[in-house]
Amino acid sequence: MSVGQHPTTPPAPTNGASSYGNEFLLTDAPDHRLPQRGMAADDAMRLVGEELVLDGIPFRNLATFVTTWMEPQAQRVIADNLHRNYIDHAEYPQTAEIEQRCIRMLADLFHAPGETTGTRTQGSSEAIMLGALSLKWKWRARREAAGKATDRPNLVFGGDVHVVWEKFCRYFDVEPRIIPLQPHKFTIGPEDVEPHVDENTIGVAAVLGTTFTGHADDIVGIDALLRRLRDERGLEVPMHVDGASGAFVWPFLYPDSEWDFRLETVHSINVSGHKYGLVYPGLGWLIFREPADLPEDLVFYENYLGKRDATFTLNFSTGSSMVLAQYYNFVRYGHEGYRYIMESMQRNARALAEEIVAIGEFELVGEPGAEQLPLVAFKLTENPDRGYDEFDIASQLAAERGWMLPAYTLPPNAEHVTIMRALVKRALGHSLATTLAHDISDACATLAVKGGLHELDRRRVKTATGY
Ligand SMILES: *Cc1c(COP(=O)(O)O)cnc(C)c1O
Repeated sequence: MSVGQHPTTPPAPTNGASSYGNEFLLTDAPDHRLPQRGMAADDAMRLVGEELVLDGIPFRNLATFVTTWMEPQAQRVIADNLHRNYIDHAEYPQTAEIEQRCIRMLADLFHAPGETTGTRTQGSSEAIMLGALSLKWKWRARREAAGKATDRPNLVFGGDVHVVWEKFCRYFDVEPRIIPLQPHKFTIGPEDVEPHVDENTIGVAAVLGTTFTGHADDIVGIDALLRRLRDERGLEVPMHVDGASGAFVWPFLYPDSEWDFRLETVHSINVSGHKYGLVYPGLGWLIFREPADLPEDLVFYENYLGKRDATFTLNFSTGSSMVLAQYYNFVRYGHEGYRYIMESMQRNARALAEEIVAIGEFELVGEPGAEQLPLVAFKLTENPDRGYDEFDIASQLAAERGWMLPAYTLPPNAEHVTIMRALVKRALGHSLATTLAHDISDACATLAVKGGLHELDRRRVKTATGY
């Protein structure tokens, strides 16, 4: 034993691991308790990397709305700021200022009438929790001022919303009033909303770009309804627009379509920076129509590290990188750049849609020409002689080419409808989209010969490819 060596240090490996292999080559990955001894940094890096080969390749993930590619320069901004805690406003005032710039830019993009406020969040889910809490607090204040009961709040939304809306209702004790979809209509409008609204309604949530088919609720119609209910029945019911995907798409593809603060009853909007904001995961935004829409009670003023700070979040510490990356995108692309990117995705989605229809087995979901996210939602045409279904195609595509293209059934009362949906993001260029169409065609040809899978496999595919 040499001088200074700790007596329990194990002998140097004699099995060649350090020279020819690595620490874990002949052993299982630690998966149960913290390993007693560590391993070399290179070995740990290889171990993590090798585990991840079992994951899908994000570029072939046509199921997710979330960004799978950013420019190298943006990646550098992200990598350079991973150690900067976003919440330390006193220490990192410029990061806080950059967040505020993003909020102002988004408020302007969404046509806020004047001064406004908002917050950066972990994603649209946190933004929706905070936005819906604001609705609940504002409703309670209105009721208390009128001397009325505050024990039975309800929230109205369609079956086409993301699961987070039901989650909010359960977590924060609000009755969900879910408007069922119809067998042939997968969004909601004022006629669907009206019967559910009463004096205990804290708000109506409308979706701009549903996860199911990429279409929008009739937000203009719902706004007109809510104004009428205010004028005729004295009901004060604000609308929150869930623009997780759509609020970064509509301003560029459909600038004349009104869904935002141009409509009087829209009081808050959420959008995911990590979807069509084109930033990697971990970023959402909540924007209020005006400062008064954020109840003062929900803002925490604290004396943290010697500075008075106001926070309105569910989390505390988090990274700064994605906020900075959002600002990078804003200055890098500008309005023209975002429009170019959205239009390119839309063109490729339309080209893919045409090729899918040309296969002769499919029809598109939704009215032709309807405003929609850049995606292709499609289903098999009625054909009782066809021996396979959408779940078989999803699984065949995954097996043959590794495409992750989900098949799923719609929420009630459209649960008999099975849809396939391909997101056409920036990483799916024209040539890849064409290849995908050929692969779908090949999958159909294969399935026509060999037939579909049995029930058990179908269930497995269904859960594995949820949105
Ligand atoms: C993705 C999505 C959400 C949830 O957003 P996250 O950013 O993933 O938290 C909510 N609503 C809609 C319409 C979505 O598409």
